Amino acid sequence: MGRLFNDIRSALTSAGIECGEARSIGLMLLEWAVGLSASDVLAGGDDELPACARRRLCPLVKRLAMGEPIQYVTGTTQFCGLNIGVKPGVLIPRPETEELVEAVTGRVGINILDIGTGSGCIALALKHICPMATVTAFDISAEALSIASDNARRLGLDVRFEQCDILAKQPDGRLWDTIVSNPPYVCDEERCEMLPTVSDYEPHIALFVPDSDPLLFYTAITRFATRSLTPGGLLAFEANRRFAFEVEQLLRRSGFDHTEVRQDIFGNNRFVMGTYGLTT
Ligand code: GLN
Repeated sequence: MGRLFNDIRSALTSAGIECGEARSIGLMLLEWAVGLSASDVLAGGDDELPACARRRLCPLVKRLAMGEPIQYVTGTTQFCGLNIGVKPGVLIPRPETEELVEAVTGRVGINILDIGTGSGCIALALKHICPMATVTAFDISAEALSIASDNARRLGLDVRFEQCDILAKQPDGRLWDTIVSNPPYVCDEERCEMLPTVSDYEPHIALFVPDSDPLLFYTAITRFATRSLTPGGLLAFEANRRFAFEVEQLLRRSGFDHTEVRQDIFGNNRFVMGTYGLTT
């Protein structure tokens, strides 16, 4: 390991970033900014960088030390094997959400709708895995839709993006076989438990719901789904672990069958799904 990497790492740890985290952020930064792989860095390759490359890293290290997520600094992240462009207008895709995609893969129909698509990660991953499917994605934010469309274009994946406020949206006669959603689900009162990297930088519109109505989006999406799913169609949610069973109850009360709650890799009750009508 060379001096440059050590300097970056200590700038990050002195700013309060945990050691292991600082190490992986440092490695990601060097790989993205100057093309050095982790093994190059371990072999001390960072010592051979020209002064101009080092200077270019300075402002980036400052942003990281302030707590800005590395994915916004590099403008990119990996999701289900796809390179997804991200900017502060969209949530950074999480590993849990990759599990939502895995959970529905193999169960999706030919017409898929993703509600609250953000960067487009779920819709794009499903289109990538099921190229024959017709995938539509809604979001209320024009900025998110522009980031998602850029991602679709760059990845060569054909997804139809539509601006829509799901809290006001009426069923419009179109039917989908599968509806997936990772809507905002963090309660305002949980904000204080979040890392500042999340609450200071990621879009609040994609994260928070009022304490008085934590199921706000689940209620609206479930109602929409009962009139927009084909018989036997699948509704699959990512949810707040505190409310996963309440979301399941909501699905049951709304006429869904085969409902289930699944845990994520961290052992949290995270995914809720069910099929509508037509019990088989
Ligand atoms: N999983 C995200 C977080 O914990 C929240 C995602 C969401 O609100 N849909 O920051």
